[in-house]
Amino acid sequence: MLHPARLWKILKGGKIQCRLCSHYCVIEPNDHGICGVRQNVDGKLMTKTYDLVAALNIDPVEKKPLYHFRPGTNTFSLGTQGCNFGCTFCQNASLSQHPKSGRRITGQQASPETLVEAAIAHDCDSISYTYSEPTIFFELMQDTARVAHSKGLKNIMVSNGYQSPECIDELTGLIDAANIDLKSFNNDFYRDICNGQLKPVLENLKHMKKNGWWIEVTTLLIPGRNDTPDELKKLAGFIADELGEEVPWHISRFHPDYKMQDCPSTSMKSLNLARKTGTDAGLKYVYIGNVPGNENSSSFCPSCKEEIIKRFGFDMENVGLDHGKCKYCGCKISGVFD
Ligand code: SF4
Repeated sequence: MLHPARLWKILKGGKIQCRLCSHYCVIEPNDHGICGVRQNVDGKLMTKTYDLVAALNIDPVEKKPLYHFRPGTNTFSLGTQGCNFGCTFCQNASLSQHPKSGRRITGQQASPETLVEAAIAHDCDSISYTYSEPTIFFELMQDTARVAHSKGLKNIMVSNGYQSPECIDELTGLIDAANIDLKSFNNDFYRDICNGQLKPVLENLKHMKKNGWWIEVTTLLIPGRNDTPDELKKLAGFIADELGEEVPWHISRFHPDYKMQDCPSTSMKSLNLARKTGTDAGLKYVYIGNVPGNENSSSFCPSCKEEIIKRFGFDMENVGLDHGKCKYCGCKISGVFD
């Protein structure tokens, strides 16, 4: 069902500008924005995803991935169809790209209240807005996040970081933690492979951090696309210098998917180089993801180097964390652990 959208303005000639993400689409009468889920209907912007949840699961928070935000808890994870990017390597393309084909948007009828009730009934600690791109189902996310907070649940956003600054400000105070993709440090990559731009993502990461969100950053390392030593240095340097050395960086292994079937999986050599580049830049927590059993998916104290959280896949075991501190040397571990 169509639902009134937020964050837009009227232009001349019946056009509308959507101000939800950094595309700032100008939408002609009856037309849609780039994401395919927001439509100009008689001079008003409407969203088609307010009440249609297309993916719903109870996940460990480690799956988002968030390793420093309430580890070991379950998060009620939901997403609708649609995305404002068009990444050729998308690992959720059937969900994210579906509306762009003009096909009917589908999903399970849900309201913010029923979603929060279900999260509580399943003993979840938080609600995650994830799977596709939550920015494009902003209204559902904002309303659900409000209800969730009123019931004592936390809110998590897993995003490509392409919001508008206004969108980030609207979500501040509601979103407690976010995992944001920093897909590359090369604008050509964002433009040609994702249909976006690099600069808004960099600015948004700084904006979220300044607004007090707990941030973890993920980079999917794709052979030959974003893995040169120079680019890795720029990625790590930006996180360390502009966001802070305490911000966790997840370097994730690529597997062929969607329109990038011809590209091999990321080698361990490349993943290890990226990790070393991160630690050389001063980052305290650099993780290798999508490689079950790799010891660098576990957390180590940045001071005494003892293992504090052991991970295998999405399972975790607290082996040395005591109320947010290393139990061996007392060093404070960055994150939200209460
Ligand atoms: S959310 Fe972004 S892509 Fe979708 S209509 Fe608005 S500005 Fe365009």
